[in-house]
Amino acid sequence: MTKKVVIIGAGLTGLSTGIHLQNHGIQTEIYEQAPWPGGVCTAWVRKGYTFDGCIHWMVGTRKGDPMRTLYEYVHALEPLTTILHMDTIDVTVDHETQRLPLEIKAFEQTLLELAPADAKEIHRLCKRIKKVGRSDMVAGSPKSLKSFVHAITRGRHFLWTLIRFMHVKVGDYTQRMTDYRLIRLLHTLMPPSMSMFAMLMMLGTRMAKNGGFPAGGARDMIKRMSDHYHALGGHITYRTPITDLCVKDGRVVEVTAHGKHDDFTHVVAASDMHNLLNQLLKGAYPHPVLDHLLKESPLFDPIMLISIGLTKTFDVPLSGTYDLPVEIDTGDGFFPTQYHIRSFDFDPSFAPERHSSIMVTLAAPFDFWHQLRQTDLNAYNNQKNAIATQMIDVLKDRYPGIKEAVAVIDVATPSTYYRLNNLYQGSYEGFLPVPDALNARIDKKIPGIDNLYLAGQWVTPGGGIPTAIMSGIETANMVIKSQDC
Ligand SMILES: Cc1cc2nc3c(=O)[nH]c(=O)nc-3n(C[C@H](O)[C@H](O)[C@H](O)COP(=O)(O)OP(=O)(O)OC[C@H]3O[C@@H](n4cnc5c(N)ncnc54)[C@H](O)[C@@H]3O)c2cc1C
Repeated sequence: MTKKVVIIGAGLTGLSTGIHLQNHGIQTEIYEQAPWPGGVCTAWVRKGYTFDGCIHWMVGTRKGDPMRTLYEYVHALEPLTTILHMDTIDVTVDHETQRLPLEIKAFEQTLLELAPADAKEIHRLCKRIKKVGRSDMVAGSPKSLKSFVHAITRGRHFLWTLIRFMHVKVGDYTQRMTDYRLIRLLHTLMPPSMSMFAMLMMLGTRMAKNGGFPAGGARDMIKRMSDHYHALGGHITYRTPITDLCVKDGRVVEVTAHGKHDDFTHVVAASDMHNLLNQLLKGAYPHPVLDHLLKESPLFDPIMLISIGLTKTFDVPLSGTYDLPVEIDTGDGFFPTQYHIRSFDFDPSFAPERHSSIMVTLAAPFDFWHQLRQTDLNAYNNQKNAIATQMIDVLKDRYPGIKEAVAVIDVATPSTYYRLNNLYQGSYEGFLPVPDALNARIDKKIPGIDNLYLAGQWVTPGGGIPTAIMSGIETANMVIKSQDC
C-alpha cells in the first residue's frame, strides 16, 4: 500500500517532516490549528512594523556547518541568506547593567574586570566557550561513514561538551566561582536549573558567529519553508485543529479535523504532546516517559510579548535584560523583577525607514490569562493595554521621547500561545533543558499504536529551531523506513 501521511501541526517540525517525506515521494497533508504556518516560530506585521516573536539566534548558521546544510535542505535558509550577528548583549545584575561583548577576548576581559578573584575559572569557562565556537554542530545521528568521521573530527568539541556538560546544572557549575556578581550574571544569562551545555552552546556559537539571526527573521524563514513544502506537492489545511484520533487494532484509522478523514497510512504528531496524549487520545494510551515529564519536569515560563512600533529610532539594544524599576502586576499578583527588551533595528526590513520595531518580554502567569480570556474578553484586552501602558512609562525614563513616538502596540499573552498553538501551560519551548529532561529517553512512538509517530520540541527537551528541524527529519526517516503499511 502506498504511504500517505497526516501531519499534526505546521510548525518548524511539521514543515520539516513534510518536506523530507515529500522529497521521498510520500504524499503528506498537514492540519494546522492556526491560520498560518510556523507555530511558535512566527512574526507579525502591524501597520508596516514587523515583530519577530521567535528568533534571537539560530545555532549552526555558519556556512559549511552540518546544521546550516540542514537549514538549506528544508529551505529555512538559502545559500545567500544574510546572517546578522549581535556585538553585545546587556545584562543587569543588582541594578547595574553590564554590556557583554559577544567576542571571546573582550567577553573574558569584561568578566575579569567584574570578578578578578575568579580569574582561573573565567579562563576555563572562556576556553570551553571558544572550543564550542570552533566546533561544527552535529546535526542528528551520522548517516554515512563520511558524516560519522566529520562528527568525531570537526564536531568533537560539540560532542565532548555535550557529554561533559549536559548533566551539569548552571547553578552547580557556578559553585566553583566566588564572586557573587559574576554568579548572578551567569544565572541571568541562563537560569541555574538549566544545563550548562545550553549556556555553552548559546555563548560559543554566538561568539564564533555560528549562531546568528537570518535577515527577514521568522517572517521570511517560514515563508521559504512553507513555499518549498507546497512546491513539493504538500498541502496545508489551516484553521483546522485535529480534535480526535480514532485507534482500532493498534492503528490510528481516522482523524477528526472539521470532519472525519481516513485516507492515510501514518500520522506524525508534530504538535503539543499534552494535547495529543490527553485530548486527541483521551488518556487511553500512556507514554510513560512523556506522562512523567508532563507531570514533573519544569517548563519554560509563560510570557507576554509587548510589541511596539516607533516613529523614530532609540538606543534600544538588540538584546537587554533590565530590572523593572516599578512593580507591574502581570496577572494575579505576579510581579516580574526584570524585563527583556530587543530592537530589530539591525534588520532594515522590520520597520519603515528611520522608524523602529521593538519588543518587551515579561514573565506572566498562564492560568490567569487563560481564564480571563475565556470569561471576559473586554477585561482581557483592557488588562493587556494597561500593562503595555505601564511598560511604556517605564521605557520613557530610559529612552526620553519614546512615549510620543509610539505608533503601534500589540500584546500577546500566555493565552495567545494556547489559543493559536495549543501550547500546554503556555510553555513556548516545552520542557526546560534541565539535566533530567535532557537525559530522558523519549520514545517517538506510543506503546500500542503502530502508525503514530512523535516529533518536535515536546519530544526533544530544550526545544529550539535546530532541534525542531532535526526532530522532523528524524521522525520522517522512521516513517520512510517503516514496514507497517
Ligand atoms: C518567544 C520565543 C523565542 C524563541 N527564541 C528562539 C531562539 O532564539 N532560537 C531558537 O533556536 N529557538 C527559539 N525559540 C524556540 C523555537 O521557536 C521552537 O522550539 C520551535 O519553533 C518549535 O517548533 P515545533 O514545530 O516543534 O513546535 P510548534 O511551533 O509548537 O508547532 C506545533 C504546531 O502544531 C499546531 N498544533 C498543535 N496542536 C494541534 C492540533 N491538535 N491540530 C492541529 N495543529 C495543532 C500548532 O498550532 C503549531 O503550529 C523561541 C520560541 C519562542 C516562542
